[in-house]
Amino acid sequence: MLNIGCHLSSSKGFLAMGRTALKIGASTFQFFTRNPRGGSAKGIDPQDMAAFLELAREKGITSVLAHAAYTLNPCSAEVRIRNFALESMADDLARMEHLPGNMYNFHPGSHVGQGVGAGIALIATQLDAVMWPGMSTTVLLETMSGKGSEIGGTFRELREIIDRVGMAERLGVCFDTCHVHDAGYDIVGDLDGVLAEFDAVIGLERILAVHLNDSLHPRGSRKDRHARIGHGHIGLETFGRIVNHPALKNLPFYLETPNELPGYAEEIALLRRMWRG
Ligand code: FE
Ligand code: FE
Ligand code: ZN
Repeated sequence: MLNIGCHLSSSKGFLAMGRTALKIGASTFQFFTRNPRGGSAKGIDPQDMAAFLELAREKGITSVLAHAAYTLNPCSAEVRIRNFALESMADDLARMEHLPGNMYNFHPGSHVGQGVGAGIALIATQLDAVMWPGMSTTVLLETMSGKGSEIGGTFRELREIIDRVGMAERLGVCFDTCHVHDAGYDIVGDLDGVLAEFDAVIGLERILAVHLNDSLHPRGSRKDRHARIGHGHIGLETFGRIVNHPALKNLPFYLETPNELPGYAEEIALLRRMWRG
């Protein structure tokens, strides 16, 4: 079965997210670990978590993906901002142990003029500080569009981060279709070629999750504006190829399209119809 879900609000807890996922035909979901504007995360309610884990086991909800606040910048030039990212990620990863064996995705950050090399070194240092032997969560670096001074707009940059991290065996990549397209990779005209390049630079086995988003802007625009599936420059046909690609078809897929729940339900149903198994 196609393992697909979407981004859900975590404001009502885990059991509520699990029920919502099932209601819209999803078998997985993504959530923010904390308010993107920063601030502290809600504590885990053990009863809510136990009820969710039971529901997940019963109904086959797997590969829950936590997303770090996208406002964090682990490679800021300012120590205060870097430390905030460090503390947030350490706290998120500690709480993830209540949801064992899942994944935690984050944006590598923006080097803000320090240069790509300096940014990559800072990101690796931050990861070394928040990961520990025996942790059950896999940490994912998201492919980025490369807007501004964002790191992760090329596969090479992600590879260089992975190479510098001590616990690289616990690292993977979340492949965001809008970001990869906006960064300039031709997933519309040559999906096989882009994935071959990913394989040569990083290794396809590192892709552990896919963010399915169409793009409002043309390839290479470095804009990062998501569109609904089939309503952007990537187009429905390409999404059919993506969910059926042998290297991707058994991965979990997460929609981050501009939708309310009924729109997500429609996109999930549409992609399920396109999946050939
Ligand atoms: Fe993201
Ligand atoms: Fe994304
Ligand atoms: Zn995005």
